[in-house]
Amino acid sequence: MSDLLNVDNLTVRFEVKRGGGWGKKSYLYAVDDISFAVKKGETLAIVGESGSGKTTAALAVARLVKAHSGSVCLGGEDVLQTQDEDLRAFRQKVQFIFQDPYSSLNPRQRAEAIVREPLDSLSNKSAAEKTQIVEGLFQAVGLRPEQQRLFPHQFSGGQRQRIGIARALATQPELIICDEPVSALDVAVQAQILNLLRKLQKDFGLTYLFISHDLGVVQHMSDSIAVMYMGRIVEHADRMSLFTAPRHPYTQALLSAVPTVDRVKRASQKRILIPGDPPDPVNLPKGCRFANRCPVAQELCHQQEPALISDDNGHRTACHLVS
Ligand code: SF4
Repeated sequence: MSDLLNVDNLTVRFEVKRGGGWGKKSYLYAVDDISFAVKKGETLAIVGESGSGKTTAALAVARLVKAHSGSVCLGGEDVLQTQDEDLRAFRQKVQFIFQDPYSSLNPRQRAEAIVREPLDSLSNKSAAEKTQIVEGLFQAVGLRPEQQRLFPHQFSGGQRQRIGIARALATQPELIICDEPVSALDVAVQAQILNLLRKLQKDFGLTYLFISHDLGVVQHMSDSIAVMYMGRIVEHADRMSLFTAPRHPYTQALLSAVPTVDRVKRASQKRILIPGDPPDPVNLPKGCRFANRCPVAQELCHQQEPALISDDNGHRTACHLVS
């Protein structure tokens, strides 16, 4: 399968006010020189704690925040160079499924109007075509035709997320960014929504960029996984490699918190706690950004930042202890 999305050396920074002399600017590098690709029809999960930069990276891919540097190519076209007059076409190609199905739907719109909204603003289809598309989408996400007339408060949380998914599918996008799409839902409903996303991917050949703080959520959902910490990718591998042989101490700690149903594994599983807090993102330390919390940090780690290095199988790790 060929790459649909190529992100190269993407950096997003925000100016922050800090004490200091007149004219002295400080920046927070929310996303700091990251590169990754997503194959057509596959899912790349970006995982990390709050503040890791995962959502900012996704927003930059969708041009919802401004990138400072780097490139984002979708189907070979450089998204960051898209002129404002061409943004309408771009918006059809990239759609979002948001974290909170409670706040991402307009409470005054009927479900039918919510799903139809991207078609009204982004496509030139006739009213009859739009009606037909909306009917098909309700069916595809497991909602009944008569539910089109209801308002968001008349649905359960899971059903509301189904409306959000139908809305994201309306323009037949090339890329769907799922930003923590199940984290506001009960565990049982989470599984239903993840199954639905997988089924839709299979049926329609969808490509997902899946943002999550929880490796447990992405373990049955992703083809590959990039782990971010303080704006950087620290490990990136196919799902099997990352889950069976994680190399970065941060990934190992995150994985140790993922519950397993395997009795043998569960008995031997030891939770690795990550002590302390992340460093000040505006005044990052000299060496590895994880060094002040890493259980196996060495002297070199405090002096030199490790590069993200790939092995022959494309498993990338940024750690001095991984050769
Ligand atoms: Fe830990 Fe050093 Fe590896 Fe950073 S480079 S993750 S501090 S061992």
